Amino acid sequence: MSLAARDQRVIWHPYTQMQTAPAPLPVVRGAGAWLYLEDGTAILDAISSWWTNLHGHAHPHIAARVHEQLQTLEHVIFAGFTHEPAVALAEGLLQILPANQGKVFYSDNGSTAVEVALKMALQYHHNLGQPRPKILAFRDSYHGDTFGAMSVSSRGAFTAPFTALLFDVTYIDVPVPGREADVLAQAEAALAAGDIAAFIYEPLLLGTAGMVTYEPAVLDQLMRLCRAHGTLCIADEVLTGFGRTGRLFASHYLQEQPDMVCLSKGLTGGTMALGVTTCSKGVYNAFLSADRSRTLFHGHSYTANPIACAAGLASLELLLADACQEGIQHIAQRHSQTAAAFEQLPGVRSCRTLGTMLAVELAVPGEGTSYFSGLRDQFYNLALRRGVLLRPLGNIVYALPPYCITDDELDRVYAVLHELRELVLETVPLA
Ligand SMILES: *Cc1c(COP(=O)(O)O)cnc(C)c1O
Repeated sequence: MSLAARDQRVIWHPYTQMQTAPAPLPVVRGAGAWLYLEDGTAILDAISSWWTNLHGHAHPHIAARVHEQLQTLEHVIFAGFTHEPAVALAEGLLQILPANQGKVFYSDNGSTAVEVALKMALQYHHNLGQPRPKILAFRDSYHGDTFGAMSVSSRGAFTAPFTALLFDVTYIDVPVPGREADVLAQAEAALAAGDIAAFIYEPLLLGTAGMVTYEPAVLDQLMRLCRAHGTLCIADEVLTGFGRTGRLFASHYLQEQPDMVCLSKGLTGGTMALGVTTCSKGVYNAFLSADRSRTLFHGHSYTANPIACAAGLASLELLLADACQEGIQHIAQRHSQTAAAFEQLPGVRSCRTLGTMLAVELAVPGEGTSYFSGLRDQFYNLALRRGVLLRPLGNIVYALPPYCITDDELDRVYAVLHELRELVLETVPLA
């Protein structure tokens, strides 16, 4: 029996309608920006395998470090014990994160990093004796799939079955260019009551919302408003961290510094699941007490897994090397040139770039913007037939490649984007 057939007997895949989904593609190997299927087909991973991969697949440096760690210490309880990879990775992260970050709390993925940040924020105010019950978030945000993370994410088809059990969140619109003043007024009104514990945001780039971007200046203003009202700021850099936006963190584009930062995805270069929540000394200090009830009672069995931390350290070394930093800037430059050219073409509504992210919004009528749109599947399938993995968000097709991608490989991705644009022109009458 083929691998795909065996899979279909026993596996339930993420974000997949199992009744109608085609058989999954069996991947046997990865190298650089490429994935190789059982039958030898090569597929260019232009979305870094759900935004996780930074340096290419099966990177030998990360593999060597993971191998070494596996033979030394695979795992140990992280309450009452510590180990070199966890400490060294925390030291490395604090060196490059906004300077006010003082402590690192480990968990398992982006959603748990967000859960930890929300719990830290709520308990911070509780410990100070002034509980605040609410969270402020962007209406179109995505922060993960666990209940707390779902609660602060956009409410829609993904969350509909759970609405009754999601906690109360005050939403403000995303301050896209032209909407800044409105959104600042919304925030001012929401914060005035003084009952908002924290503002959680995807800094400068909302991935799942459709690679939506906004300017640093308005985020600085929102953060200043929060500060004036005693509301903590949580930067969800699960997507934007580790060079994605052209700087090491999106928070580096800002004047203001967040009280907490959530990291995952690129944290291990796409090798292993690992989450991190960092916080300022001020947040941390509110948990210090002779009274044990002020403790942050949170942890996971695999907290700070040494192998995952070793992968994180190896990835960080690669990321900070000149070659990688130059690669990031080169991708950013090529994306900008491509966006400028695309924007002039029929079939394109708009283009956005930020660092290594290029998004093209194709000009399809209203319905096309849906995650469920039939056109979206046509885009996905056509790209795959051309040997490029894209995962359009409705009519928004984007590239978010590993930093090792070459010029020739980028050209292939851009050529497919052109073909998708032509497909739109053929199928949709111009408005
Ligand atoms: C992917 C993502 C998450 C959730 O991370 P998981 O590891 O998938 O749980 C949270 N926030 C943002 C901004 C993300 O892009």
